[in-house]
Amino acid sequence: MKSRITKDVVLTLNRFDMNKTKENNEAVELRPHHSACLRFFVGKGYSEDFVAHTAALIKRLSNEGCLVKITNSCDELCKGCPNRTGNKCLSQEKVEKLDTKWSKALKLEIGKTYYWTDIKANFDNTIREKTLCDNCSDCNWFSLCLEIFDSLR
Ligand code: SF4
Repeated sequence: MKSRITKDVVLTLNRFDMNKTKENNEAVELRPHHSACLRFFVGKGYSEDFVAHTAALIKRLSNEGCLVKITNSCDELCKGCPNRTGNKCLSQEKVEKLDTKWSKALKLEIGKTYYWTDIKANFDNTIREKTLCDNCSDCNWFSLCLEIFDSLR
């Protein structure tokens, strides 16, 4: 299926009035695999602070016209995580593998900017259970995400 993600932000920026989105002009940095983590977030996480930080991030992403810049290093979600150490994750090797898999699955390119709504829509329209199993079965949160994924169908 053709990806719904608009790869060229110059084109996508024409779709809305920039004056309405001043607050959102600064793109939120996100690692590719966090598109999945955020999609399945149900108020659980590594610590209370992390949960509060994640909930606030999801609220910010839900603002109209919110942009996301894809990164392969620590991102906005990592800022609130107890597993972050400097600009790396304690499970660096594991998250790099996750990022590679999810950037491929969602056709996200490092350094490019997208609308969060496009990433989310692309996720919902193209990701099937097999992809989730292939990409995330090694993650400690996998069973919870799979349960949520099934409930969304
Ligand atoms: S620091 Fe690691 S575990 Fe924490 S949010 Fe970032 S990638 Fe995920």
